[in-house]
Amino acid sequence: YHRNSGLALGLRSAGGRRPGVCRRSDAGARSGRPAPAVENSVCLKLATQKTPALKLPTHNHPAQHHPLQIAAEQTRFSTGGNFTSFGHNRYNQDVSSKGAAALTAACRLKEVFMALVVQKYGGSSVSDAAAMKRVAKRIVATKRAGHNVVVVVSAMGDTTDDLLDLAASVTQKAPQREMDMLLSAGERISMSLLAMAVNELGETAISYTGQQAGVQTDNHYGKAHIVSMVPERVARSIHDGNIAIVAGFQGVNERKDVTTLGRGGSDTTAVALAASLHADVCEIYTDVDGMFTADPRLVLKAKQISATTFEETLEMAAHGAKILHLRAVEFARRYHVPLHVRSSFSDKSGTWISDGPAHPELKGLVPDSALTFDPEAQL
Ligand code: ASP
Ligand code: MG
Repeated sequence: YHRNSGLALGLRSAGGRRPGVCRRSDAGARSGRPAPAVENSVCLKLATQKTPALKLPTHNHPAQHHPLQIAAEQTRFSTGGNFTSFGHNRYNQDVSSKGAAALTAACRLKEVFMALVVQKYGGSSVSDAAAMKRVAKRIVATKRAGHNVVVVVSAMGDTTDDLLDLAASVTQKAPQREMDMLLSAGERISMSLLAMAVNELGETAISYTGQQAGVQTDNHYGKAHIVSMVPERVARSIHDGNIAIVAGFQGVNERKDVTTLGRGGSDTTAVALAASLHADVCEIYTDVDGMFTADPRLVLKAKQISATTFEETLEMAAHGAKILHLRAVEFARRYHVPLHVRSSFSDKSGTWISDGPAHPELKGLVPDSALTFDPEAQL
């Protein structure tokens, strides 16, 4: 039973469960109970204004895959002043015009260069130092293929569960505020180590906590919803040619106290970032080659799904499939962020999730050649 294998469909055991400790496998959608799909969409109330409605290349418009056409599409948004609409009106109140300029500039980069890629690495992809280095290579390869890269990272391996156990061994009634303070530490460890590993390969990576990345949430410790996303420093960072590495799963409430987004919440951080930065794709890296018709570890004949829609993904989740964080899919659907769920252990194309009808041929904006590139050969 791998906790971070949350992308395979089908039944799975709830191993390692302890009373009083909410493990990821306890999440409603994952335990056979009906998935709280509607409840989870509440967080999208932040979209009170008109959404960016960014026309991203979808499976049914192969012609749009040309980078220049994509750039042309995005120019409208980068120059239209509504680049910040994901953070809606809060943005105008809270952020300096300098910040707005940085965001717009970051968006404009895409007119000249290639894609803006958000890559989310789950705990199983960064389970130890060797894994960190492997992931760092992939990040650097993507960057050197000419893309702007923003990374969202989860806590290493079982860190979050270990922290939960640790807290449970101290008290059975930990204050929720302190639980979130504790749990958010896991992602701090991985983001800083990953930044070091990337720097070691000769690219500049800078890590940011949820707060630094502009993730504002409500007050629900342990299951907070993102209410606005103003990734000013992240945008500035990529504008300066750096790789931004953001701690998943965390934000801050109005009092600037750390909150966490619920188990598996790094997916949601990644998609929200991708939406606010108008990324071309949000890659969700895990330890299996995308989504399957059943859990590939349990069912030998499980087939990989090469492409599917947001609707289908939400439906599968509602039927108890252990899939992406539900709110991540909701965000992706609302903001038209194409998702590519894939393995960090291989270069294979995984599962594409988008608005359009499935089109298995779509390989994505990041050419496979970029990912097989060996950065060490260049050093
Ligand atoms: N580290 C957190 C968890 O294990 C968040 C995540 O992995 O997405 O739930
Ligand atoms: Mg985790």
